[in-house]
Amino acid sequence: METKEYIELGDKNFIHTYNRFQVVLEKGDGVYLYDTDGKKYLDFGAGIAVFAFGYNNKEFNDAIKEQIDSIIHTSNLFYNIPSVLAAERITAATGFDKVFFTNSGAEAIEGALKLAKRYAYNKRGKGEYEIIAMKHSFHGRTIGALSVTGNDHYQEPFMPLMPGVKFAEFNNLESVKTLVNDKTCAVIMETVQGEGGIYPAGEEFIRGVRALCDDRDIVMISDEIQCGMGRTGKLYAFENYGIKPDIFTTAKALGCGVPVGAFVADKKVSDALKPGDHGTTYGGNPLAAASVVKVYDMFEKHNILDHVNEVSLYLEAKLDEITASCPYIKERRGMGLMQGLVIDGDKPVGEIIKRAMDKGLIVLSAGGNVLRLVPPLIITKEHVDEMTEILKESL
Ligand SMILES: *Cc1c(COP(=O)(O)O)cnc(C)c1O
Repeated sequence: METKEYIELGDKNFIHTYNRFQVVLEKGDGVYLYDTDGKKYLDFGAGIAVFAFGYNNKEFNDAIKEQIDSIIHTSNLFYNIPSVLAAERITAATGFDKVFFTNSGAEAIEGALKLAKRYAYNKRGKGEYEIIAMKHSFHGRTIGALSVTGNDHYQEPFMPLMPGVKFAEFNNLESVKTLVNDKTCAVIMETVQGEGGIYPAGEEFIRGVRALCDDRDIVMISDEIQCGMGRTGKLYAFENYGIKPDIFTTAKALGCGVPVGAFVADKKVSDALKPGDHGTTYGGNPLAAASVVKVYDMFEKHNILDHVNEVSLYLEAKLDEITASCPYIKERRGMGLMQGLVIDGDKPVGEIIKRAMDKGLIVLSAGGNVLRLVPPLIITKEHVDEMTEILKESL
């Protein structure tokens, strides 16, 4: 089939929830993708912050293939070796006590919300518990996750959503404090807001929320689905602030392309969930869990965090240069390899992205007016230079 035919066939059969680029991606190698016409793209989107090690990584692929030949799926009614090892890798690396594996980010959020509610229920009895979330946040598209996503446009057609959610201003501690009451059971926030426009949490804010949650025995949930797994130079972004949430969620790069997520908590909170309270058929199955084990192995073996810390300084410097030289870029925001360029109002970000794509560079948007760069964590300075050239031309 030709490219055009694939696109027509897809459009005929897919529910139209995405306006896709008119490109069919066929294979990848390192930080490059290739479409069905053989065109090559430098990928600074990484499948939306997923592909930390780049495409077609032999070491990673071999581990997955080996697992496929052994066993792909069992169920959570039994133990399986990869999931036991994967949970140990996460707890050992983070200092948290307990892990529940899911299939996606949204499902990890759902679990985290249920755990927070259950914790309050156990401690304080039956109550109509409330959750404080942030404006401009993004936590996923399922009803629970959507309910804590601070975006009217995403929410409105699906009302009524989960009740008891209030939205505070991100990076404004007072606005969180005024929403707290005796029913509040959780505060949920991304450590670096992703889809909302690449806004890192301020240090005072995040520490203030931690202290507030400690005072009132409120569960603090950090959504690390996009900013976690090394993207900011620490394994999890909250480590940059010297705080520890009660629950964090992880997905995207956790399985580097194999769909897997998790919510992770300390025993004090996680013990609230009892047998029968929560479940999932696929979550943490041997294939998914084998990917997690391998991802953690490779993070350590290849010193990925050191690499991110080094190369991200170079990326920041290059983006600052672009920002200084381009009159309609207002500022650069971000941490590590999660960067955004804020584009002035009347310049459509979509048009810049399309031009970059024509020239063989994939970049993403966020928050309407932000050009988002979330490359594979293995990019080199040469890749940054290549991106810079194409992006300058596109701007
Ligand atoms: C992508 C994302 C989610 C949702 O993850 P899915 O795997 O798409 O369900 C939740 N939170 C954040 C911060 C994300 O970036």
